[in-house]
Formats: sequence, C-alpha cells, structure tokens
Amino acid sequence: MMKKPREFYDKVFELLKTHQLWFQRTIPLVASENVPSPAVREALISDFGNRYAEGWPGERVYAGCKYIDQVELLCIDLTKKLFNAEFADVRPVSGVTANLAMYTAFTEPNDRMLALSIPCGGHISMGKKRFSGTAGSVHGLRVEYFPYDYDELNIDVDATKKLVKDMKGENDPPRLAMFGSSVFPFPHPVKDLAETFHDVDAKINYDAAHVAGLIAGGKFQNPLREGADSVTLSTHKTLPGPQHGAILSWDRYADQIKKGVFPGISSNHHLHALAGFAVAMCEMLEFGEKYTEQIIRNARSLGQALFERGFKVLAEKKNFTESHVILVDITEFGHGGELEKELEKASIILNRNLLPWDIKQGRHYWNPGGIRIGTPEVTRLGMGKSEMEQIAEFIKRIVIDKESPEKVEEDVQSFRKEFQKVHYCFENSTQAYEYMKLR
Ligand SMILES: *Cc1c(COP(=O)(O)O)cnc(C)c1O
Repeated sequence: MMKKPREFYDKVFELLKTHQLWFQRTIPLVASENVPSPAVREALISDFGNRYAEGWPGERVYAGCKYIDQVELLCIDLTKKLFNAEFADVRPVSGVTANLAMYTAFTEPNDRMLALSIPCGGHISMGKKRFSGTAGSVHGLRVEYFPYDYDELNIDVDATKKLVKDMKGENDPPRLAMFGSSVFPFPHPVKDLAETFHDVDAKINYDAAHVAGLIAGGKFQNPLREGADSVTLSTHKTLPGPQHGAILSWDRYADQIKKGVFPGISSNHHLHALAGFAVAMCEMLEFGEKYTEQIIRNARSLGQALFERGFKVLAEKKNFTESHVILVDITEFGHGGELEKELEKASIILNRNLLPWDIKQGRHYWNPGGIRIGTPEVTRLGMGKSEMEQIAEFIKRIVIDKESPEKVEEDVQSFRKEFQKVHYCFENSTQAYEYMKLR
C-alpha cells in the first residue's frame, strides 16, 4: 500500500535525528567541514532565511530589509576587520559562486586562466570545460595548469614564471591566476609570482575556501598583502560559520565585484546564513587566534602520530603541514575508496583523495592512493595532542592491523563521549550535534 504523506514526513525527521545522533559518536575529519556554534545555528533558523534582499544594503530591490541591512553591514564590517580587507562582498552563497563572480568581474569568456589541476589539489570550480569544471563550462575560460612540485606539495615558482613567459610569447597571456586549492598543506607562492602575473596584466585571485579561518586567525599567509587582487572563500571550513561564501578585495575593484555577485550569480543570498556568518566573525575575532593555532598543532600532531605508526604521511621533511590538513599515501594498505568505507564503519569520517601523481599512475578518483585528513572540527570539539594520538591509533587498527571496524567503533564511541560541546565560542549550552525540535 502507498505510504501516507505523514509517514514520509516522519521518516525525514527520523533520518535527521539519526544523523545527528550518529555524529555525536563520530570522529569528523573531513578537511572541508566544521561544526558551527549553537549561536550560529540559532541565526540559521531565523526568519532571515525566508526573505529576499537583492542589491546592496540601502539600495535594495525589495522592501522589508531594514534589519537585514543592518546585519549585512555589520557582517561586511566584521569581515573587513577580521581579514584586514578594504572591500568585502558577503553575498555569495558559497565558495563556488564566489569564484564564479570573480570570473565575471575579472575575465571574459575564452580568456586564459592558470589554476591547479584536480590531482594537485585544484577544485571543480576552477576546472576545465572538458571535466565540466565551473571555470570552463560556465564562464568559458580556457584553463591551464600551474606546474606543480611533488616534493614540496606546492606550485613550482620557476616553472610557472617560464610558462607565463611562453604564453606571453604566444601573444596569449593568462588573464587570471587562480591560487588556492582543496589540499592545502603549505602557503602558495603568491608573493613570488605576483609580479610575474601583474606584468602581463593578469589578475590574481586566491581561493581561500579551505584556509580562510587560518588566514583570519593570522596563522597562514596573507594573500591580499602578498599581491592578490581578490580572495574568495567559503565560510564553513576552517572558518567555523554556516555554509556560505564571501569575496575580499580592494576598493578599486568594488564596482565590478558587486556586479559580478548581483545580478551576476545571485538573486536571494541566503540571509540566515549571512547572519550566522556575522556571528561566526565575532567568534573568530575573539577566539580565532587560539582556535586556529590549535587546528594547525593538531594537524601536525596527527601527522606525526600516523607517521610513527607506519603511515606514509606526505611532506614528512616539512613537518607534514602548516595548515589544517595532511595527506597520506595509503597505497601499501589498499585503495582510498575502500579504506574510506572501512573507516566510516568505525564512525571515523574522512575523505579518499587523489595524490598528485595518481592519474599518471593509473589511479582514479573512486580509488585514489590517498586519504585527506583535516582537524578543524575535532579541534572545535576541544581535542588536542593526546586525542590526535588516539585517533591515529584507531585509524591504524583499521587500516594496518585490519581489525574489524565494528570492534574499533566501540572504542571510538567511548572516546568520543566527553567531546560534545563546541569550543572557541561565547555560548555553548546546547551540545554540538544536539537535535533541536521546534514542532
Ligand atoms: C570547498 C572549496 C570551494 C567551494 O566550496 P563551496 O561548497 O561552494 O563553498 C572552492 N574552492 C576550493 C579550493 C574548495 O576547496
């Protein structure tokens, strides 16, 4: 018999609740995720989420925006302050759309752009048309790859200088250089390459989706001060806000960026998330330095602890990472795809990930040679060095010792019990993954 609407309705809530109960027991290590504070969650369920505010504060296309305008102006000011930026547009609803707005602001279709390839950490939003990447397929950019140094896990500066020179020689220089990536252990050489790009009249955008929180905390590079013309970001990775996006830049580019965002890529701009973003900015201004310092310390501790247990953590000679993320070559023990699944059975949540040389060696995205591990969320839950060692031990028991994930999960659950609150925020009386019923 057909189920009644009410049964589906109940099912949705049952699944939502079960998910949250599960996350109370998991070790969340996805590098692009975080858990927002209860304050941010409160903003997310506000009526702001039901409104439109097309345009700029004070120049809206809609009525009913008088309080929304105040929050958006606050959000802009807080963002400019936190990132020490002349100009901020806080309307992009995500990092991808922030990048798309910058393509509109700085380039014409068919222009050449340099970005990292996906195996070297590049993101779909900077990808070629052939792979349905946003830059190629939506804005028609011709995307070419930065030369990459496998040992340093970074952009190769000398080879990039030569490439740009060659492109200039062809009378077809790049119009945009897209720095930043999704596997971002070390700062990118913006400073070393700023002149190279500006000399051929190319703009520089730095995609800080992953590292925005670290930049805000003063613990990573500062791309605007190193020569970037703009910075795009997600607000929910190392920045512990709701899912949203933003653009930072200089006043001289304000007009073209504003148009790129609206009407370029948005109608409503998710005002509930914008309010949550403003709240997260306040938390970062107060607690950001300590929080981000601990994220990086934890990433290094976890790298070291895994390395000591027999894992091939990349960039060992450089202390594994200067950010929130480490990359592990797990080809000795299996494929990234199957290990990701085994770990998930033990409620350890992380990503499989391509290693820079995987495609050349015949591996692919479903079964890559690496796993990517990030520490923003476990740090937010109050974990430190000794917890990183325990996490490394859990991972070892599954990946190397081949213990049954069900057995390891029992220990994961009891380990996880005492980490139920969000730290580095003003108020945390509600638990991190507590299910909130309004009905
Ligand atoms: C995550 C990410 C983005 C944007 O992601 P959204 O989900 O759209 O916020 C953009 N660039 C890079 C490098 C990323 O890792």
